[in-house]
Amino acid sequence: MAFTLPALPYSFDALEPHIDTRTMEIHHGKHHQAYVTNLNTAIENTEWADKSIEEILANVSRLSPAVRNNGGGHYNHSLFWQIMGPGKGGVPTGIIGDAIQGSFGSFDAFKEALSKAGMGRFGSGWAWLSKDAQGKLFISSTPNQDNPLMDLAEQKGTPILGVDVWEHAYYLHYQNRRADYLNAFFNVINWDAVAARL
Ligand code: MN
Repeated sequence: MAFTLPALPYSFDALEPHIDTRTMEIHHGKHHQAYVTNLNTAIENTEWADKSIEEILANVSRLSPAVRNNGGGHYNHSLFWQIMGPGKGGVPTGIIGDAIQGSFGSFDAFKEALSKAGMGRFGSGWAWLSKDAQGKLFISSTPNQDNPLMDLAEQKGTPILGVDVWEHAYYLHYQNRRADYLNAFFNVINWDAVAARL
């Protein structure tokens, strides 16, 4: 069963003015679609063609760079669309608010740490909030389309929130201002979706 591009759970202009319509159209329709297409090509007629994306990523160290890059790209963007939404953002409450408070001391400390992870990623990659095998939350960053589910990740865990810091995620609207983009990202986080992944 080939992988398919998941529909955005909101319209392309729903995240304005924080993330612009044109960026969303290209990011979802061109970039993510290319990861899906290239992943399907890379696993076609192999033993991985009927495996879940999670299973593929857990074994990615022995697979081709094409599977690593495009499998990661498909998983990462599928998560990214889900954990954003219109009219969201703000300081989370409930189980995710408590978990962040307990792990990082305060929401502001969490925001600073995630932003620092995104700013510190030289070139292309992602910043993540994940839970480890013991259920403890941690923040990390990965290069390119790697993620914490991959067996070759430095810090392994299950990502519950991720932010894309590739230039294609922000360049049209923010140009080189990654810090402004990261700050705006906090206005569109769908904390209910993040909590559901916890
Ligand atoms: Mn991207």
